[in-house]
Amino acid sequence: MLVVGAGLAGVLLARRLQDAGAEAVLIGAGCRGAPVGPADATAASGGLVRAFEPEPAARALATASLTELLSDPALAASAGWHRTGSLYVLAAGPGGGLEIGGADVLTGPELRRRFGFDGPASAVGIWEPRAGYISPDLLRLAVLRGLARTEAAPMARLDDGAVVLRDGRRLTGDRVVVAAGAWTPALLRAAGFATDLRTKHIQYAYHAVTRDDLPSMVDETSGLYGRPAGPGRMLLGLPSGRWDPDPAAPEADAALAERVATVATLRLPGLDPRPIGPPVSAADCYSEPAGLALRAVAGSVHTFTGGSGGAAKTALAASRLAASTLLDRPAPRRPTGSRAPDVPTTP
Ligand SMILES: Cc1cc2nc3c(=O)[nH]c(=O)nc-3n(C[C@H](O)[C@H](O)[C@H](O)COP(=O)(O)OP(=O)(O)OC[C@H]3O[C@@H](n4cnc5c(N)ncnc54)[C@H](O)[C@@H]3O)c2cc1C
Repeated sequence: MLVVGAGLAGVLLARRLQDAGAEAVLIGAGCRGAPVGPADATAASGGLVRAFEPEPAARALATASLTELLSDPALAASAGWHRTGSLYVLAAGPGGGLEIGGADVLTGPELRRRFGFDGPASAVGIWEPRAGYISPDLLRLAVLRGLARTEAAPMARLDDGAVVLRDGRRLTGDRVVVAAGAWTPALLRAAGFATDLRTKHIQYAYHAVTRDDLPSMVDETSGLYGRPAGPGRMLLGLPSGRWDPDPAAPEADAALAERVATVATLRLPGLDPRPIGPPVSAADCYSEPAGLALRAVAGSVHTFTGGSGGAAKTALAASRLAASTLLDRPAPRRPTGSRAPDVPTTP
């Protein structure tokens, strides 16, 4: 199994495959971070993790990932886990039952009383005291250390069943999984494969704030998201509308950076956010439907990307699912009946 890309998605998939007894080779392990430029999504990620997601499939993966993280103290420590609680504000009630253990549903007036949140009266908050944030970059490093077979060189060319590295070597595999995040659409197109995957800009900044009582949060009524980032500091951001940036050097959006403080002040009066340093500007791979998942491309080629700005919270469970899907399908050159074992382990 050739896995291309050493972001969180690639390292976790390679680890799940290895733990299941497959021969997994992670390609590009030496270019952790962007092959050219400062940061891939894993290095730039805010790392907010929680069980709640509005979409049920993403919610199931986020819930399973958080459960795995919290049930394994060594894993949580290696991922730089911080418990902050998580507040997810919806414009109106989610409709239907919410199957989230340990979450409370708060009304608009309760949001105001408990968090000083000033939003529409119809707003509903999903409050998860056990949620928080991780460092996806630290988790990646920990998983990378446990991989038996890595290739430092990035992929220069992708073929069906083979990968040519930048140092000229050609590796062959039963499956080639492109887990190159925001670089994936261009890599596929360069190899002649059609794809609906797209790249989108994501930007946030650290701010000095005058409140230290806020949890990690997402506010769908304004787009504002953030989390604590040490005493008197919060990471705050708003969705960017920019599609198809260069993932190696996504240009910062000055107007978006200015809007963040305005929106945060409206929703969280008394926060008084003042940006510290330039914004963090990066990109992720977006899919429809959104979410990190294994997708067949053609022949032996698959992708494992599409995090759509949210895969830090689903990657543990999504990689487990992707590995078992890959191994359940008989690979072209594997003798019939040699089904791989299930994926039991935790990185
Ligand atoms: C700014 C930002 C904030 C985020 N905040 C959150 C959050 O708070 N919560 C959350 O759940 N999610 C968040 N996300 C989303 C989450 O971090 C990403 O979905 C996830 O990290 C994507 O991991 P990945 O491995 O798919 O991609 P990446 O981390 O981008 O990794 C792809 C890798 O592929 C490599 N690569 C590229 N080309 C080649 C090649 N030719 N050969 C070999 N390797 C190659 C790159 O160098 C890179 O290392 C955020 C994302 C961003 C950008």
